[in-house]
Amino acid sequence: MMKESVFCTSISCMDGRIQLPIINWLKENHDISFVDTITEPGIDKMFDNLDKIKEIKSKALISVNKHGSKLVIVSGHDDCAGNPVSKSEHIDQIKHAVSVIESWQLSIKIIGAWVNQNWELEIIE
Ligand SMILES: [Zn+2]
Repeated sequence: MMKESVFCTSISCMDGRIQLPIINWLKENHDISFVDTITEPGIDKMFDNLDKIKEIKSKALISVNKHGSKLVIVSGHDDCAGNPVSKSEHIDQIKHAVSVIESWQLSIKIIGAWVNQNWELEIIE
C-alpha cells in the first residue's frame, strides 16, 4: 500500500547543516512524508518584526492550506551565523516564535526545537 503523503512545515535557518537533521527527526518522530521548508538566516530572531512575521505566515499558510500540513516546527541552532546570540537567547526567541505561530490559530501541532552542537534536535517545552 502506498504511504499517505503527510506534509509538515519547518521554519528554520537557511544553514545547510540543520536541514537533514530536522527532516530526519520529523520522519522518525511524526511519520511525515514531506517537509515544506521556510528559511531565512537566523529566522528565530525575526518573530519580533511584524513585516517578517507577515511574510513567514503567508508562506506557512500555503503549506497548511494547500498541502494540509499537520504540524509546524520552528527552530534555532548552534553556531548560527545569521543570529549569533547565546543558546539561552535562542531558546527565548524560539519560545516567542512558538507563541506567535500559536496566535495564527492553525489548529495543528506547533513545536519549538533547538538544534544542538551535535546537530541533534532538543524539543523546547
Ligand atoms: Zn543559522
